[in-house]
Amino acid sequence: MEKVVIIRYAEIHLKGKNRGYFERVFSNNLEKALRGIRHEIHRTSGRYLVANFEEEMIGEIMRRIANVFGVHSYSVGLLTGNDEDSMFEAARLVAPKAGTFKVVTHRGDKHYPLTSMEISSRIGGRLLGANPTLKVDVHEPQHTVYIDIRESGRALVFGASIDGLHGMPVSTAGKGLLLISGGIDSPVAGYMMAKRGMTVEMLHFHSYPYTNEAAKEKVVSLAKILSDYTLVTRLTTVSVTHIQEEIHRKCAAELNVTLLRRFMFRIAERIAYREGAGCLVTGESLGQVASQTLEGLTSSNAVVKLPVLRPLIGFDKEDIIEVAKKIGTFETSTLPYEDCCTVFLPDFPAIRPKLSFIEAEEGKLDVDALVEEALATREIIKF
Ligand code: ATP
Ligand code: MG
Repeated sequence: MEKVVIIRYAEIHLKGKNRGYFERVFSNNLEKALRGIRHEIHRTSGRYLVANFEEEMIGEIMRRIANVFGVHSYSVGLLTGNDEDSMFEAARLVAPKAGTFKVVTHRGDKHYPLTSMEISSRIGGRLLGANPTLKVDVHEPQHTVYIDIRESGRALVFGASIDGLHGMPVSTAGKGLLLISGGIDSPVAGYMMAKRGMTVEMLHFHSYPYTNEAAKEKVVSLAKILSDYTLVTRLTTVSVTHIQEEIHRKCAAELNVTLLRRFMFRIAERIAYREGAGCLVTGESLGQVASQTLEGLTSSNAVVKLPVLRPLIGFDKEDIIEVAKKIGTFETSTLPYEDCCTVFLPDFPAIRPKLSFIEAEEGKLDVDALVEEALATREIIKF
């Protein structure tokens, strides 16, 4: 008898002809998620089995599987022989100590000499015999013991299953470049795109020395948390210090944020091209702050050709916070370090800046040179 983890996948079964491809990526992703832990992954009719691991690693394995997109549900199970005694011994370990239960059997091996009903009632009867405090309830049992008879001469026995993250396996839906700040929103935006199968690369702009080392560490921590889901383990950083100084010195103060955002988009697009990303992703949400009005969003879109995906566009802040808490980024996001945007924050940012005004102010700067100069500060942090 061997302890295994049974993984059922989510939306992949919808993918008709591409199914094989989705399954391969999914299984690769499971491998990546379990990197560093000794294990084997087997595919058996519509499921994956993680096997051959050290028993004390089970908690960590479950924790990591909980973060893999495409997992519909997963459970700890026992892989055993498909003779009645072996199945009973496994069922005894899976069965509850008290309360009501039923046994549900599925025969993958249709040549098995007993029907599913017969197996369920025999094993159920023996469980009752072994533990008289149990009661059978076939309609609304508190617990179910599942027996799955495989064609390999083996059987899987398992109890409750845990709901997975659902979504699509990452790296089945193209690559995007997430503009990640130290705030609450952008990590959530990255999470949401990864959930739809996107490979989410990350780019952060800092204003060192106006922002300090701790601010950078905060973003690295966020990127690390996100990488549990996205399986992308690097972060690109670029300095916008000189750009911010130039804007501050030469342009109308109320346009500080708008102009900086346009620079960020231009730089991000250049990096996206280099990394083979087909879109930018931001954590913007309509009307959340002055720069996220329709006019603000339009003015930053105007400087790039790549599509900009904003998965949080229609989300309220509370909804975003709820996700941030669920995925474990909230606490880090709310640590009090300065983001580069707050350094030169004007008292009254323009809420509906006209494009002609923006362009006139931007005309006071050598945009191309500043972009090139910023790109030269690019660093890649691997973790
Ligand atoms: P967040 O909580 O994600 O920081 P926010 O509500 O603070 O968002 P802004 O600061 O206006 O909003 O930023 C809007 C979006 O611009 C962010 O969601 C992020 O995608 C991007 N962005 C802002 N600052 C940075 C930065 N320093 N580096 C990279 N991207 C950034
Ligand atoms: Mg921010």
